[in-house]
Amino acid sequence: MTTLDHTHDAGARSWLASANADGGDFPIQNLPFAVFRRAGSTESMRGGVAIGDQVVDLGALSEARLLHGLASDAAHACDRPVLNEFFALGRAAWRALRHALFALLKDDAAPAMAEAMRGCLVPQAAVEFALPARIGDYTDFYTSIDHALNVGRLFRPDDSITPNFQWMPIAYHGRVSTIGVSGQTFHRPMGQARAQGASAPTCGPCARLDYELELGIYIGCGNPAGEPIPLERAEEHVFGICLLNDWSARDIQFWEMAPLGPFLAKNFATTVSPWIVTLEALAPYRLPWLRPADHPQPLAYLEGPANRAGGAIDIRLEVWLESEQARRDRSGPSRLSATRFGHQYWSIAQMVAHHTVGGCSLNPGDLFSSGTISGPGPGEAGAIIELTRAGQSPLTLNNGERRAFLEDGDAVLLRGWCEKPGHARIGFGESRGTVLPARA
Ligand code: CA
Repeated sequence: MTTLDHTHDAGARSWLASANADGGDFPIQNLPFAVFRRAGSTESMRGGVAIGDQVVDLGALSEARLLHGLASDAAHACDRPVLNEFFALGRAAWRALRHALFALLKDDAAPAMAEAMRGCLVPQAAVEFALPARIGDYTDFYTSIDHALNVGRLFRPDDSITPNFQWMPIAYHGRVSTIGVSGQTFHRPMGQARAQGASAPTCGPCARLDYELELGIYIGCGNPAGEPIPLERAEEHVFGICLLNDWSARDIQFWEMAPLGPFLAKNFATTVSPWIVTLEALAPYRLPWLRPADHPQPLAYLEGPANRAGGAIDIRLEVWLESEQARRDRSGPSRLSATRFGHQYWSIAQMVAHHTVGGCSLNPGDLFSSGTISGPGPGEAGAIIELTRAGQSPLTLNNGERRAFLEDGDAVLLRGWCEKPGHARIGFGESRGTVLPARA
């Protein structure tokens, strides 16, 4: 597990005033990575780091020659349209660049250095983002027991979770081609579904469109095929975490998924936030990973003292919905739910160890998602199918509109942050995606 150092000091301040604002997502203790360029320009996409309301342009920083050694190599590797090469450099390089950026942005940086650094800043309001990595493979896990129980009770009241759930982090291989960065729009998918009681399916627009609140996990360093990653080394292979919305067509899903799992119900769009918060930045927010004594205990390859001591992470998460009418009448987005990642039944390290136990190789830039994150309480569900009990109890939005499932024009916003006394609040920014009508 990552240890705390001076870059986590809650008292540290930047010479950039916006980085010190109360309640901001991007103080000097965070320093998350994205890929960006000036909006509407033909500039090359390149790596950037958030600080306050600005982006540190890592391409410009690399050319400014303010860095040395490993930090310089790391910044140079970020001067590309994807961060895969930077990810492949490994934890020592990630840490060297974090420490160098922290020193250059801190309020006691030498004035000449701070001035040179100021020349590498671009306002966040003036940039557009791209996917931060060339994602080779995408695996969607299913690791929230509350989500599994909520969905299971709706469809299999006598047998709400499958027997394997408590023994391993289960998953399916997802689709990369439709993963988009925040701001993504997509058409309501068409597909095959069979109405309750009907003898044959029909093909048409999805009638039960849903979101799933998840976190995305970017693999930093890979492993050779045939060489499993042991649990105690698993986090060395993880670069960081983003917000992820696994859009889901429930009517299509429940007709198609037996016996091979989700297919078209999940392959039309997945939205990620532009910023990747590093495991390094999340170090103050580690929690013990707990497994109740009366539940099955993990098999040996999923069990270890470091995972027990700090395998979980306390990330607060919210889902908001902004309808087309709310945009017109300016009534603002409505909060649908709030929960915490710390409730998750399996840890990220256990996902990595399980994924590779059979010899599967991971590559830099591979993406995992956590599976829908739901907590035990009534307002803590990470999908609308749980909140509305499959549409039986519609939600009421701020402006009085009601929702059983998503409608055309709806934008779903995910937000995430960490905060606790004695530590700097750090945030994930936002992931936003919008449903367009089905193609005629
Ligand atoms: Ca999912």
